[in-house]
Amino acid sequence: MEDYYQILGVPENASEEEIKKKFRELAKKYHPDMGGDPEKFKKILEAYRVLSDKKLRAEYDKKRKMMKEGFSFEFPFGFEDLHSFFRNQTFDDLLSDLIEEFFSFAPEEKRDIILDLEVDLSEIVRGARKIINYKRKTICNICKGTGSESGKLIKCPVCDGRGKVISRSGFFTGFIFETTKTCKNCNGKGQIPEIICKNCQGRGYVIKEEVVNIDLPPHFDPYELIKIPLLGDQDPVTKKSGDLIVRIRIKPHPRFKIRGRDIIGEIELNLIDLILGKEFILDFLGEKIPLKIPEGFSGEYIKILGKGLKGGDLILKIKIKPIKRLSPKAKKLLEELRKELEEN
Ligand SMILES: [Zn+2]
Ligand SMILES: [Zn+2]
Repeated sequence: MEDYYQILGVPENASEEEIKKKFRELAKKYHPDMGGDPEKFKKILEAYRVLSDKKLRAEYDKKRKMMKEGFSFEFPFGFEDLHSFFRNQTFDDLLSDLIEEFFSFAPEEKRDIILDLEVDLSEIVRGARKIINYKRKTICNICKGTGSESGKLIKCPVCDGRGKVISRSGFFTGFIFETTKTCKNCNGKGQIPEIICKNCQGRGYVIKEEVVNIDLPPHFDPYELIKIPLLGDQDPVTKKSGDLIVRIRIKPHPRFKIRGRDIIGEIELNLIDLILGKEFILDFLGEKIPLKIPEGFSGEYIKILGKGLKGGDLILKIKIKPIKRLSPKAKKLLEELRKELEEN
């Protein structure tokens, strides 16, 4: 995983303002149009995407800590995902245009779709079958992706087939600034449909609803991304499909908390069981776990190895069950026990 703080050159406790300021600076400096490396530019976008979003940043910080303990993570941001994020961001005009331009020239990128799937802790423990409904772009079968009912394309009259238009500004200052922009009429393709396809409105793709079943085995790793090949968006030009990538989100549980890969909870035991020891079956979210409390147990918690999230443990803090009402007989027996213990 990338170190997003390092990429943006900001400290871990940087404020939102600081992050935005640094991003603006770097994005202008490293934009491919300014001679920057496109890969590096994409990393800068990715870093900003994560660190500017409170939730993602918190998640990233957590994972970054765990990474130091040896786990590895990936935030998969395809161009599509980054593009839709940056489309809703406002920067000064120049930067917004620069970013928009960057995305219009990244056509070869696979078009992955990233979805979040909420699961319960009990579904992680026992496994589950989940059904995902989502929409993806698929090639229009009327025009075969050309966007033209006749299948023919003609030269875009706005940019004269170049895909780019030049805009000039600054006439009054005596200097002329020329900026090249993607032609909006043809989206930079230089060609437009001869007869616009009615089925897809000339886009070459239609939106298809998909239903996917995902089988999650018991104790699957919720930190691992689930990749379903070729069920992402299909590109009408390259005909290639991206993948569907499912990210697991664990729903908060009223009784258990997650710390890294460990699951933390509580177990109520009565004093006698702790003194005499006990063997029993623990029902942990539907999974039956045989447990043995040794005689004279005095620990504060029970650790059940391998029953946390994949690679982690289940840690149960011991809570002593209060004895609400003692029968005269129980009271007498306990008094005898006390005497016995005091005498020995
Ligand atoms: Zn069509
Ligand atoms: Zn054009």
